[in-house]
Amino acid sequence: MSEQWIYLDGQYVTKENATVSVYDHGFLYGDGIFEGIRIYNGNIFRCKAHLDRLYDSAKSISLNIPLSYDEMLEVMAETVRRNDMRNGYIRLIVSRGPGNLGLDPLRCPKASVIIIVEQLAIYPEEAYLTGLKAVSVSQRRNIPDALNPKIKSLNYLNNILVKIQSNYAGVGEAIMLNSQGYVTEGSSDNIFIVKNGVVYTPPCYLGALEGITRQAIIDLCGELDLELKEVPFTLHDVYIADEVFFTGTAAEVIAAYEVDGRTIGSGVAGPVTLRLLEAFRQIVDKDGYKVWEA
Ligand code: PMP
Repeated sequence: MSEQWIYLDGQYVTKENATVSVYDHGFLYGDGIFEGIRIYNGNIFRCKAHLDRLYDSAKSISLNIPLSYDEMLEVMAETVRRNDMRNGYIRLIVSRGPGNLGLDPLRCPKASVIIIVEQLAIYPEEAYLTGLKAVSVSQRRNIPDALNPKIKSLNYLNNILVKIQSNYAGVGEAIMLNSQGYVTEGSSDNIFIVKNGVVYTPPCYLGALEGITRQAIIDLCGELDLELKEVPFTLHDVYIADEVFFTGTAAEVIAAYEVDGRTIGSGVAGPVTLRLLEAFRQIVDKDGYKVWEA
């Protein structure tokens, strides 16, 4: 395989040389933000939405990204080009940068920007037809007035603890509730349920990331004339749903065929899930920023 190039603070370096300081507050405190973005046939899917979310997350945590929006777009596209990547995954990281051991961000003069481009396939193709098993977990989603889940921060311990619980349960995905018992999202995916032909997803203010894939699915529901409701729901609604599915940049659209031991619908990916997955895969290489044609 040819060399993998990583953008690191203004330079393109090899994977072996892509190292950061142990004093970086991203490492010491999870102080920073990131994006996970897909590239399909040379098209960065919903690039603007991802960059908007990155700059919004930065603003929310008072992090000054040392690149303008256009500069960020250019280095991202250039990293993709240097890796000759047509289909893959882009990880964009902005950490608070190196400081001292104290947590005061004023001690970190310059944020660090890192862009990694890699191949990606998190589930085998069969999993999109069979679906995954999921469990609800006892760990609650971060409450929005502590660390708002709308911020895609480098602090993913909440999600990792949830992943540990679903690993112990031996299943593929976790369902996180908020402290009021409403369903929020998966460990790193948004959640939808389908009941009597209506598609439901929780509002993000309950404690969920405003997923780019989630929005794409909401848009596709409109185009496919599927009724979509953004309303709070509980585990009871999940158990009795006809279909349950998760959405995310890496996962795309994947069903859950069992939740907490209850079989969902007919026990395989349902028709609405598969219709939305198909429609989603039709737009991923069209809707976004074309790296090579630019
Ligand atoms: N929720 C969380 C906690 C996530 O980390 C992600 C990203 N994998 C998502 C939802 C889905 O967001 P997106 O569709 O933008 O990838």
